Amino acid sequence: MNRYLLTPGPVPVDVDASLAMARPMISHRGADFHALFGAIEKKLERLLRSTGPVVLLPSSGTGALECLAANFARPGTKVLSVSCGVFGDRFREIVARTGAEMTNVDVEQGSGVAPAIVADAVKKFPCDVLLLTQNETSTGVLNPIAEIVAALPDKNEKKGENRPFVLVDGVSAVGAMPCHPQEWSVDGLATASQKGLLTPPGLGLVWLSARGWEHVETHGASSYYFDLALQKKYMKPDAHENPYTPPVSLYYALDAALDAILAEPEWFDLRQRAARSIASGLEALGFELLVRDAAYRSPGVTAFSLPGGGIGGVAKNLRAMGIEPAGGQGALKGKILRLAHYHDVRWPEIATILGSLFAAMGERRNESGDFMKAAFDIWEGK
Ligand SMILES: *Cc1c(COP(=O)(O)O)cnc(C)c1O
Repeated sequence: MNRYLLTPGPVPVDVDASLAMARPMISHRGADFHALFGAIEKKLERLLRSTGPVVLLPSSGTGALECLAANFARPGTKVLSVSCGVFGDRFREIVARTGAEMTNVDVEQGSGVAPAIVADAVKKFPCDVLLLTQNETSTGVLNPIAEIVAALPDKNEKKGENRPFVLVDGVSAVGAMPCHPQEWSVDGLATASQKGLLTPPGLGLVWLSARGWEHVETHGASSYYFDLALQKKYMKPDAHENPYTPPVSLYYALDAALDAILAEPEWFDLRQRAARSIASGLEALGFELLVRDAAYRSPGVTAFSLPGGGIGGVAKNLRAMGIEPAGGQGALKGKILRLAHYHDVRWPEIATILGSLFAAMGERRNESGDFMKAAFDIWEGK
C-alpha cells in the first residue's frame, strides 16, 4: 500500500534529497565540506533574498528558537510575545526561561495577527524584543510579517530608542512561502529542515540582520552550543565550518532539496494554489475550515473539522487508507484535523487527498460529488 505522509513536519522527502544522504562521509574541516556549506549558503541567500550568513545548527526547530532566545534575551530583557497558537506559546515559554520580563498578547486560535494589534501592543508595552510567528502550524494561520513590521512605530515611544529586535519563528514558513527577512526588517529568523525545506528533521537554521549580528557579537550568548557569534567566527569566507561536528548527511540533503525548490520558478505560487484548491474542495465536501479569513490561510497546512466541530472517525479512516494526517494540538486536540501540503502537491495529489476524504467521511458524506469541480476550478485558475 502506498503511504501518504501529510503531517506538517516531517514532510515527504524527494528521492534526490534522500539519495544525497547516502554519499560517503567527509571531514567537516576539509575542502569538500567547505564547498558544500558554501553552496547551501548561496542557495539560502536566493531563497530568503537576504545577505549574511545563515547558521546551521544540529537541532530541530525548537533548538533554533532556543538559539535566538540564548542570544537575544537575558534576565531583565523586556520581551513582547504575540501568539495565535501552540507554537507562538512555545517560543514565549522558551524565551521566558532566560529570565526575561515577558508581556504576552494572545490572538484567538484560528485568527491571524493583524498588524494593528502588534503596533498597538508595542506602543503600550515598549520592549527590547518582539516575538512573532510567521506560520502558526497548529491552526494553519499565515501571519503577514512584512505588514506587521512595517506598521511598528519607528522608535519605542516611551523609551525613545530603536524599535525592538523582531524575532520570527519561521519554522513552518521558509521554503513554502515567501520569507524575506532582510527586506521585511526582521532581526532574527529561526527555521528548520523538515517542513518547507523538504529535508529530513535535524537541522535548525538561524538568520540575523546586520543590527542583530552587532547585538549578539557585543552581548554574547548564555549558551555555548547555540552561541551565534561563535558560529559566525567559524564561517570564514570560502571556508564555512561549524564550531563542532555538524550532521554532514543532512547538509547534503538540504543542498539537494534547495535545488529542487529553486528550480521551480512558480514554487510559492503552486503551494498557494494547492492550498486554495484543497480549501475549496474541503468546503464543498462539507468540512469547516478553522481559519475563516482566507487572507490568513497558510499555503503549507490546512486545519478543518466536521460541521459543528470534531472530526468523527475521519482520521482513523484516513489512516486505514494509508494517509497520515495530523490532529489538533493543545486546546484543539480531538477537534480538528490538519493536512500539510508543503511538498510538490499538484492535481493528482489534490484529487487523492479530497477523494480519500470523501470516502473517510462515512455517514457524514455529502453525496453531491461537487467537491472535485470546486477544487479543480481553483486549481485551473478559474
Ligand atoms: C514545527 C514547529 C516548531 C517546532 O519545530 P521542531 O522541529 O519540532 O522542534 C516550532 N514552530 C513552528 C511554527 C513549527 O511549525
